[in-house]
Amino acid sequence: MSTLSPASPSICCYCGVGCGVLVQPEKNGDVTVVGNPDYPVNKGALCSKGLNLQYTVNDRSDRLLYPQMRYSKNHPVQRVSWDEALARTAAVFKTFIDQYGPDSVAFYASGQCLTEEYYVLNKLMKGFIGSNNLDTNSRLCMSSAVVGYKMALGEDSVPVCYDDIELADCLLVAGANPAWCHPILWRRVEAHKAANPTTKVIVIDPRATDSTALADLHLQLIPGTDVVLLQALARVLIENGDIDLAFIEQHAEGFETYRDSVLARPLAESAQLCGVPEEAIRLAASYLGSARAFLSMWTMGLNQSAVGVDKNLALLNLHLITGQIGRPGAGPLSLTGQPNAMGGREVGGLSNLLPAHRNLASPAHRAEVQQFWGSGPLAATPGYTATEMFEALADGRLKAIWILCTNPLTSLPNARQAEAALAKARFVVVQEISHKPETLAYADVILPAAAWAEKEGTMTNSERRISHLAKVVAAPGEALPDAEIICRFARAMGFSGFDYPSPAAIYEEHARLTAGTTLDISGLTYRILQERGSVQWPYRASQPAPDTARLFTDQQFYTPSRRAIIHPVQVAFRSEATDTDFPFILTTGRIRDQWHTMTKTGKVSKLNQHSPKLFWKYTRTMPPRWAWPRATS
Ligand code: SF4
Repeated sequence: MSTLSPASPSICCYCGVGCGVLVQPEKNGDVTVVGNPDYPVNKGALCSKGLNLQYTVNDRSDRLLYPQMRYSKNHPVQRVSWDEALARTAAVFKTFIDQYGPDSVAFYASGQCLTEEYYVLNKLMKGFIGSNNLDTNSRLCMSSAVVGYKMALGEDSVPVCYDDIELADCLLVAGANPAWCHPILWRRVEAHKAANPTTKVIVIDPRATDSTALADLHLQLIPGTDVVLLQALARVLIENGDIDLAFIEQHAEGFETYRDSVLARPLAESAQLCGVPEEAIRLAASYLGSARAFLSMWTMGLNQSAVGVDKNLALLNLHLITGQIGRPGAGPLSLTGQPNAMGGREVGGLSNLLPAHRNLASPAHRAEVQQFWGSGPLAATPGYTATEMFEALADGRLKAIWILCTNPLTSLPNARQAEAALAKARFVVVQEISHKPETLAYADVILPAAAWAEKEGTMTNSERRISHLAKVVAAPGEALPDAEIICRFARAMGFSGFDYPSPAAIYEEHARLTAGTTLDISGLTYRILQERGSVQWPYRASQPAPDTARLFTDQQFYTPSRRAIIHPVQVAFRSEATDTDFPFILTTGRIRDQWHTMTKTGKVSKLNQHSPKLFWKYTRTMPPRWAWPRATS
């Protein structure tokens, strides 16, 4: 009598909360998914998306089953072997690289990629092809947070942990609707607030949402005026003396210039510009100023903006002037929308990053990585960003693009431009699990990938928590794990260093490359992850299992001076001003039970009951003062 394998621990593949699940294989090849009661993030709880995760795994009706190739642009795709598909792709890539240089090709990946996939892709592109043209859809959602952290704290480092929710007595949520988009985290906020009614919740959002419903104070600002509002809060904090001068003097720099810039705008003017009453700003500042510990959370409202870095800095500054960082319950918590955007940041999976927070502009750092990989020299200039890639395809600078694990024709800000770019591209490779994404119509080569639960690897959630995802079921047809596809292609290109016996071996190499950096995980292995369930980085070989729940507890930051930097943020509004030609302000949001472009969650009838279609609504009439002059800078 055959016995079923026990349930394997894994992580929900949707949002960056990163809830733990147990995946049980069934006799018929399906899986059952339940929340993992032992996982610290969610303690068994799952939101509607996680609860229905098994249906997206078990419904294989849309899966790509074998490689396909189009011999010329006007011909239909045909089934081919893996060897044939990868040999042709390698030949085309080599031709372009020889004729036009390594910057003529690019990879566009995803925050859903596992860390191992990111790692081999980064190594292939930056080390062996010799171009930094590797970017991901994470560019669209959290690159502003990366830059904000680097500028203020010295490196891209989330200083807090989820347990700070229960330790905070004031929560500031800006540009986010976690009740819908990070539900399990929000349930913790709700439970904390219910148990401690004096805990203050402030939500900054132009929209009224399920998150604002919990707030003691909803600052319903005019879209795009976040910096004005955050600076106004800083002004009141400074005027009231609710700042931590000792922290500022000993552990920060830049305060005087910042203070002058903040005080330059009268509160009444700020209130008028952002459409929030002066009294509400004063009340919010009093909540922040009297808080024993204040925690902030934010997502797209701050990040997905032409002035996203400024918005991030304006928020981080509130923590720095009040000294609310590096201690329990206090600090900034940027929420990631994708399950492994953080893992991508760690391996340097953007076109301007190097592994383990190394600096692309540093010749020493590039040489260090080159030596470790045994590769050619790493290019010093950043590659194309996500949106630049499609511009470069359209004007012919880029000849070939390889898209994996993302659906850019639905998710890029200018989808029509992306469509035109793919139509003009000389060569398009799409690595996918589903035959639904619109990009497939433009693909010269289609590579079937294994989906969640069909491959092994790791992911890092929004609180730096690394977890192992088990392979539970076999991939259908000839679909392969993404890392294996990349390694097979690298070998087809003739590169050495891509012969990994297992995902664990890739992870071990990635971990070794982090040694000596601030996110050092050189002591971490799959075995440790499986034994401990999860680990927050760093996890050094020299000092395994330290208390890494919070960073900067010694108030020493990763800047050259070891001080945090308070950046004056001059911008009040820029690209988001209206005029007679562009009179509307549009914002975006996410539907509670859907995720990304709905290729996965859209398959589940239960999830479609909440809101089966995308929708728009007109939520607010802007006051006449909104007609600001269009800024020129
Ligand atoms: Fe999955 Fe996010 Fe829901 Fe947790 S909160 S179950 S990670 S979608």
